[in-house]
Amino acid sequence: MIVAKFGGSSLSDSDQFLKVRRILLSDPARRYAVPSAPGRRHDCDHKVTDLLYRCHDMAAHGRDCAQVFAEIRTRYMNIAAELKLDVDIGGKLDEIERRIPLEPTPDYAASRGECLNGLLLAALLGWDYVDPADCVWFRDDGTFDSERTQIDCARLLLRHNYAVIPGFYGRMPDGSVRTFSRGGSDVTGAIVARAVDADLYENWTDVSGFLTADPRVVKNPRRIEQITYRELRELSYMGATVLHEDAIFPVRKAGIPINIRNTNEPDHPGTLILPHAQGEPLAGITGIAGRKGFAIIVIEKAMMNAELGFGRRVLQAVEECGISFEHLPTGIDTMCVVLHKEALDKARGRLITRIYELTEPDSIEIHEDMALIATVGRGMVRQRGMASRLFAALSDAQVNVRMIDQGSSELNIIVGVSSEDFEDAVRAIYAAFIDE
Ligand code: ADP
Ligand code: ASP
Ligand code: MG
Repeated sequence: MIVAKFGGSSLSDSDQFLKVRRILLSDPARRYAVPSAPGRRHDCDHKVTDLLYRCHDMAAHGRDCAQVFAEIRTRYMNIAAELKLDVDIGGKLDEIERRIPLEPTPDYAASRGECLNGLLLAALLGWDYVDPADCVWFRDDGTFDSERTQIDCARLLLRHNYAVIPGFYGRMPDGSVRTFSRGGSDVTGAIVARAVDADLYENWTDVSGFLTADPRVVKNPRRIEQITYRELRELSYMGATVLHEDAIFPVRKAGIPINIRNTNEPDHPGTLILPHAQGEPLAGITGIAGRKGFAIIVIEKAMMNAELGFGRRVLQAVEECGISFEHLPTGIDTMCVVLHKEALDKARGRLITRIYELTEPDSIEIHEDMALIATVGRGMVRQRGMASRLFAALSDAQVNVRMIDQGSSELNIIVGVSSEDFEDAVRAIYAAFIDE
């Protein structure tokens, strides 16, 4: 049994819907489909989800969102008309337009993108429609309730032989709609796969698999044939956005493999994500991913290493400011805290004051506009000279490395570089390991 999730670009217009239908009907094992909202049809296009967020935002500021909503309406009406679908999509759109200004949070508006796409896809296939608001649960504090969801999804979905269940949202105990973070339909796909105990979770997108680097940074990066859950988690957390970073948790529990496939190239095998991959990647590394938007706080104090509880006090300051940190490289007399720049900006004054009060350091320095790059590979621990090759490549590219963290998982080496060096650094690492 296969659960197939289709991303936004796979369902962006009626032609794409037909490709999706062909894929689903070509194998009767594909019994549950999880659609996203319509994505971009071309580079200058809008994602429907972005338009829905904009509508909510405008309404929340007392502005009329009719023009933006009209664009959303056209997208769905065109798909329904071109595919001659017997769904009252106009009536549903009226109801959504009326309700958006009444909702206190953007979640309801955002969720309608997948909801409507699900109704259209179910009609096109002649499959049942299952609303995730009836079986995907969040707790009062907004966190995802996996146990309750697993029980209710299993019970509800297994009553249907073939069903479409929209991605991205579920419901709170008070009845209101709640979404996952952006890209969250990947998470729904994984939840459904676990609930029905699927043999495979197919994730259909617009690239032929997980690539060894971001195709927007490296030209034609090589594809990864097989990757383990752990490697995938490292890469997706660090910016390989092809799969939501939380999508592996539900399937990992059940050991269900994920297959990343391309809706526009359906015969391509894509990438297989497995609990344990066979063999090791030829290049020694599996992939490279990175993100901008970090900051590093460097705290220096002579004899810090001998001072009991120093690290705890630094982290206490970070915690008091409600910030979670990313990395914590330490030296003898220095300790660095790597965190999201956005989080730092919200609490900068208070955080620095608290670190001074609690630790009485000699100095505190902040490096802004940092990017982190992870070079990930299950074979890295066993190969000598990996780190030296990495740093030689960066130094040849004249990239200054501000921070190094060889993950204790022994699966990756993370470097911090200035944001302006980000692209050059990724290309240099790619050239050194993969494109030799
Ligand atoms: P979907 O709408 O199908 O969920 P996404 O836009 O979320 O698709 O993810 C696919 C995109 O991820 C690709 O078009 C590509 O630009 C980007 N991407 C970033 N890093 C990688 C990578 N390592 N491998 C493949 N794609 C990547
Ligand atoms: N449509 C949502 C988004 O744009 C969820 C998804 O595509 O996975 O974030
Ligand atoms: Mg996505």
